[in-house]
Amino acid sequence: MPQKKFSPDNTIKRICVFCGSSPGTRPVYTEFAQQLGKAIVSQGMGLVYGGGSIGLMGIIADAVLKEKGKVIGVIPHALSSKEFAHTGLTDLRLVSSMHERKAMMVELSDAFIAMPGGFGTFDEFFEILTWAQLGLHAKPIGLLNVEGYFDLLLEFINQVLEEGFIQKNHRHLIIASHDPEKLLRSLISYKSAKLPKFINLQEA
Ligand code: AMP
Repeated sequence: MPQKKFSPDNTIKRICVFCGSSPGTRPVYTEFAQQLGKAIVSQGMGLVYGGGSIGLMGIIADAVLKEKGKVIGVIPHALSSKEFAHTGLTDLRLVSSMHERKAMMVELSDAFIAMPGGFGTFDEFFEILTWAQLGLHAKPIGLLNVEGYFDLLLEFINQVLEEGFIQKNHRHLIIASHDPEKLLRSLISYKSAKLPKFINLQEA
C-alpha cells in the first residue's frame, strides 16, 4: 500500500544519503537502508548518493530503484572500479575528484542523511555540516541513528558543545532519529537557521 506523503508542498526533490561502502556486520543495517530507500520514494523524492554498488550504498540504491524511484550516483573515475559503479542507475555522473563529488552532491540535493558507515561517511557528514556552519548552504542534515549506532558520536558532540568548541545553533544543525520516516518528516519541516555566510563555496 502506498504510504501517505507528509507534506503536499514538499520542497525536498532530491535527498543525498551518505552511507557505508560496507554492509556492516548486522542485518539491521541492510534493513534500515531498504526502509529508508522505500520511505524516500514514498515521499516522491529522488536519491543522490556515491554511485557504488557495494555495501549500504548499493543496498539503498537498489531499494529506491525497486520502488521505481530515481537515483543519481556521483562517483570519481578513480573509485568507479573499486566501488563497482552501479550500472542500473537513472543517472551516473563520473567526476574527477572527491571534492568534485561532494560539491556535485550538494548542488543536486535539497537535504542530506548520513546512515551507518565508516570514515568516508564521517568525512562526508562532517563536511556537509561544516559547510552549513559556514553558511555555504542552508539544507537540512539528518542522522539515521540505526539502533543507537551514532549514540557515542552524539554524546561526544554534546561534550564538545559543553567544552565550548561548538556553538549551540551549530549543534542544532544535526537532526537525529532512529526512524527513517520520522527523520524524513523532520527534514521536510526543518526551518533553516539562516546562518551568516562566512565565505563563498569557491573559497572553501
Ligand atoms: P565508508 O563510510 O568509509 O565505507 O565510505 C563511504 C563512502 O565515502 C564511499 O563512497 C567512499 O568513497 C567515500 N569516501 C571515503 N573516503 C572519503 C573521503 N576522504 N572523502 C570523501 N568521501 C570519502
